[in-house]
Amino acid sequence: MIAASVSRAASGCTTERVDVALVGAGFAGLYLLYRLRKDGFTTVALEEADDVGGTWYWNRYPGARCDIQTIDYCYTFDPELESAWKWSEKYATQPEILRYLGFVADRYDLRRDIRFCTKVKRATWDQASERWLLTTDNDAAVSCRYYIMATGCLSSPKPPEIDGVKDFEGEVYFTGRWPHEEVKFAGKRVAVIGTGSSGIQAIPLIAEQAAQLTVLQRTPNFALPAHNGPAPADRVALLEGDRAGYREQARWSGAGVPLQLQTVFSWQLSAAERLERFENAWAAGDLFCMLRQLWADQGVDVDGNALVAELLRDKICATVKDPEIAASLIPYDHPFGAKRPCLDTNYYATFNRPNVTLVNLRQEPIKSIMASGIKTDKRTFDVDVIVFATGFDAMTGAIMAVHPIKGRGGKSLSDVWANGPQTYLGLTVTGFPNLFMITGPGSPSVLSNMVVSIEQHVDWAVNLLIAMREAGFTTFEATKTAQDGWIRHMADCSTLTLHRLANTWYTGANVPGKAQGVMPYTGGVGPYRGICDEVVSRGMLGFRLAGPNVAEQCNDGEIVRLQPDVRLVLKKLEEMKLAPIESLGAQGARDFVAELNADRPAGRPVGDVADGTLPGTDGPLPYRLYRPATPGPHPIVVYFHGGGWVLGDQHSDDPYCRDMCRRSGMIFVSIGYRHAPEYRFPTAAEDGYAATRWIAEHAAELGGRPGSVVVAGWSAGGNIAAVTCQLARDRGGPHIAGQLLVCPVTDCTFDRPSYNDNATGYFLTRSLMFWFWDLYCSPADRTDPRVSPLRGKLAGLPPAFVVTCEFDPLRDEGIAYADALAAAGVPVEQLKARGHIHTSFTMVDVVITGVSGRVQMAEALRRLAGLPPERKQVDASVRPARTASPRKIAAAAD
Ligand SMILES: Cc1cc2nc3c(=O)[nH]c(=O)nc-3n(C[C@H](O)[C@H](O)[C@H](O)COP(=O)(O)OP(=O)(O)OC[C@H]3O[C@@H](n4cnc5c(N)ncnc54)[C@H](O)[C@@H]3O)c2cc1C
Repeated sequence: MIAASVSRAASGCTTERVDVALVGAGFAGLYLLYRLRKDGFTTVALEEADDVGGTWYWNRYPGARCDIQTIDYCYTFDPELESAWKWSEKYATQPEILRYLGFVADRYDLRRDIRFCTKVKRATWDQASERWLLTTDNDAAVSCRYYIMATGCLSSPKPPEIDGVKDFEGEVYFTGRWPHEEVKFAGKRVAVIGTGSSGIQAIPLIAEQAAQLTVLQRTPNFALPAHNGPAPADRVALLEGDRAGYREQARWSGAGVPLQLQTVFSWQLSAAERLERFENAWAAGDLFCMLRQLWADQGVDVDGNALVAELLRDKICATVKDPEIAASLIPYDHPFGAKRPCLDTNYYATFNRPNVTLVNLRQEPIKSIMASGIKTDKRTFDVDVIVFATGFDAMTGAIMAVHPIKGRGGKSLSDVWANGPQTYLGLTVTGFPNLFMITGPGSPSVLSNMVVSIEQHVDWAVNLLIAMREAGFTTFEATKTAQDGWIRHMADCSTLTLHRLANTWYTGANVPGKAQGVMPYTGGVGPYRGICDEVVSRGMLGFRLAGPNVAEQCNDGEIVRLQPDVRLVLKKLEEMKLAPIESLGAQGARDFVAELNADRPAGRPVGDVADGTLPGTDGPLPYRLYRPATPGPHPIVVYFHGGGWVLGDQHSDDPYCRDMCRRSGMIFVSIGYRHAPEYRFPTAAEDGYAATRWIAEHAAELGGRPGSVVVAGWSAGGNIAAVTCQLARDRGGPHIAGQLLVCPVTDCTFDRPSYNDNATGYFLTRSLMFWFWDLYCSPADRTDPRVSPLRGKLAGLPPAFVVTCEFDPLRDEGIAYADALAAAGVPVEQLKARGHIHTSFTMVDVVITGVSGRVQMAEALRRLAGLPPERKQVDASVRPARTASPRKIAAAAD
C-alpha cells in the first residue's frame, strides 16, 4: 500500500502532501472523500465555498429544486444512509437538498478534510516527482499524486454578455450565485433575463411578489408541470419493494432512472392513443416519462419527436391567454429534449398575470443596460432589480477556470482543448497523467441522473487507484489511440439522439467563442458503465500504467469500434446464447429467422403495399410491391432480399423496403425467388433475371415509370442483383439503369482478410457462409459468374452503388467487386460503413446509426434512376406552424 503520509513544508506558503487532492464539495466531492478515506488514501478536498453542497450551496434562488425525483436523485452507496434520510417532496427544494448534503458530510465526518474558502487557481504536473502541485487563492498549496476535479458541470456561471451591467444602479442577482440572505422583491420592478431551468423555476415566485416583472427571453424552452407533492406512491413502492434491485436497474438504465423504455413506435399508435399517452405523461409530472415513455421514436427521429413537440405546443397555447404571448413562448428552434426541458410550477400561467410582461429578444434584442434599467432596440424598461438567469459555461467552464492546468511537457489543457474537450471516457485526458475529472465532458453527466453518474465515476476511479496501489503502479495516463477512439465513438453516439440538432449548453452554443459539439456522452448510462467495466476487464485498455518497481503496462487500443447501437444489438444476441443458425437445418433456420423478424419494429407506413405474383421461368413467383405516398408514376427498384439463397422471402426485408421506398420516393418490388437446398444454383439467379425482365416489361401496369428499372439487393440478394445486371447485358435486356448492392456476395473464395477478421461475433459468420454456399452451389459451379459475379465480364454494366460494412465477412469481396467494376469503366460509388455489421442497414429502427447510410443509398437510387435529388425535407419539429410570430422567431433563429 502506498504510504499515507502528510507533510507540511513551512516556507512562506504551506504545501500539504497527500495521496489525492480533490476539488469540490458537492455530491461528487463528498462521495470521493468518503471513498478515498475509507480505502486508505490520504486526501484533502479544496472548496471555494464556505460549506459543502456545490450546486445546492450556490443556487439559492426562489423556486430552486431538483427536476429528477428525489428518491432517485440521492446517494445510493450506503443503504443505511438511505434509510436514515426521508425526503419530504417528490422534487426537493434547494434548502432540503443542501440540508441532506450537510447531513451526509456530518454522518461520515467529512468536513475535517475539506479546506473551505479555498479556490484552486493552477495545477502543474511535475514529471520528476510524478506529482501534481495545486496552487490556490490563499496560501495553501497542495502536492498530490492524484488530482481529481469534482468541480461540477454546472458550477461556472456565464457572465452577462450585455454592455453596461456595471452602470446599473439597482440590485443585481445571478441565480447561480444567489445571496444567503433573503432577497425581497415586494413592491419592486424586477427584470429576469433568461428562461432556462433556473429562470423558469424562479419567474412564477418572483412574479407573486414583485410589483412588476419583465421577463426577457431569447430562446423559448419546453416546460412541463412538475405536479410537486409527496413522492408518487407507485415509485416509492417499487423502491421499497426491492431497493437493491431498483438501484441496480437505475445504474444500467439509459439515464440513471429506472424506467422501462418504450418499444412501440409512433406510427403504430392512433392519434387518440398518442394523445392518451401524452396526457398521462403530462399528469405524471416527470421529465423522463415525457422524454422516453411516449413512443420509441420520440428521442431519435425528428418525425416522432415532432408529434410530442406539437402536443406540448398545444398545452402552451391552452394555458397562455394572449395568443401573441403564447406564440413567443412556443419553441420552434429545437426538437423536444434536444435542449434540456424544464419542470415548472405555474410558469406559463404566470404570463396571464397583469404584472408580468414578456419581451421577446428575438424581436427586440437588448441594446444595453443603463443606470435605470434595460434598453432594447424598441423600448426602455426602468427596473429596480435585475436577475440574471443566464446559465452556465457548462461542463468545461469550471475545469478551464483552473488555469493553467499543465500536464506532461508543460502542455496546457486550454491549448489541448482549444477546439473542444477531448477525453478518454470523460474521465481522463491524454498528456495529463494521474488526473481524473468526475462527470467530465465525454461522460453521460448532464444527460443523466447525475448522482448515479457521479457514484459510477467515483467508484471506477477509486477502484483503479486501489488496483494500481496493489500492483505497484504510481501513474496512469490515457493513450492517444484510446482517446481518439473515444472521440470517434462520441461522434457516433451523437447521431443516436437529436441533441446535435439544437444549439444549447450541451453543445457549448450558449457561450460566445466556445468550441461547438455535443459534450455529454449520448450513448446512455448503462452502456457507458458497461464500457468502463470492459476497459478494466480488458487489462485497463487504453491506459499506460507505470511505477518505480514494476514493468510498464499498456494494452493500447480503442474500447468501442462498433457503432454504439450495433454493439448493443450484438450484446443482446450474445446474451441470448443462440445456437448457430447453420446447426438448425434449413427449415429450422427459416423458422428461427421468422421468429426474429416477428419481434422487430414494424416498418413505417408507405403509400401502398400490395402482394402479387409474376411469371417466373418455371411458374409463378410471389412479390411484394411498396408504393410511395406521392403521385406516380415512380421509377421501379427490383429488390432481392438477403438470406444466403436459403432463408427469407419477399416479406423478410419489409422494414428496409418500406424505409427505402419512403426515402427514395421509388416503387420497391421485393421478389420471392426460390431457395436452396430445394432449388440449387442457378435457380435464384435465373428467377432474379426473369422477375426483373417481367417487371421492366410491365412497369406501367404496376404504376411504375416504364423504360428501365434499377436493381437492388442485400447480401445474397446483392449477389442476385449483380448477376441480373450481367445477364441483362448479355441477353439483350431489360434496360437496367443502376444497381444498389448492399453487402453483396460476389465471389466464392473465403481467403480475403475480412473472412478471417470477422469470422465470428458479428452475426453473419464464416461458418454460416460456408453452409449457405454448400446448400446453394456445388464446388464445381462456384466460379460461374452467375454466382461469383466478380469472375464475370464487368465492362458495360450499369452504374453501381456498393455498400460494405467494416465488420462483415463479405466486406472485402464487396470492395473487390466495386474496385473491379470501376477498373472496367463502370461508374461506381462506394459506401464503406465504419463500425457496421452485415445486418446494420436492414435492422431499421433498431440500428439508428444505419439511417445515414440508407439516406445515402436512397440518394444514390434517385441518381441512378435519373431523378433530381430529393428536396430536403423541412424538419417538422422546427417548422413554424401556428401564427405569424413563431414564423418570425424561427426565421431569426435560422
Ligand atoms: C439549479 C440546478 C438544478 C439541478 N437539478 C438537477 C437534477 O434535478 N438532477 C440532476 O441530475 N442534476 C441536477 N443538476 C446538476 C447538478 O449540478 C448535479 O446534479 C450535481 O449537484 C453536481 O454535483 P458535483 O459535485 O459534480 O458538482 P457541483 O455540485 O457543481 O460542485 C462543484 C463544487 O466545486 C467547487 N469548485 C469548482 N471549481 C473550483 C475551484 N477551482 N476551486 C475550488 N472549488 C471549486 C464549486 O464551488 C462547487 O462547490 C442541477 C443543477 C442546477 C444548477
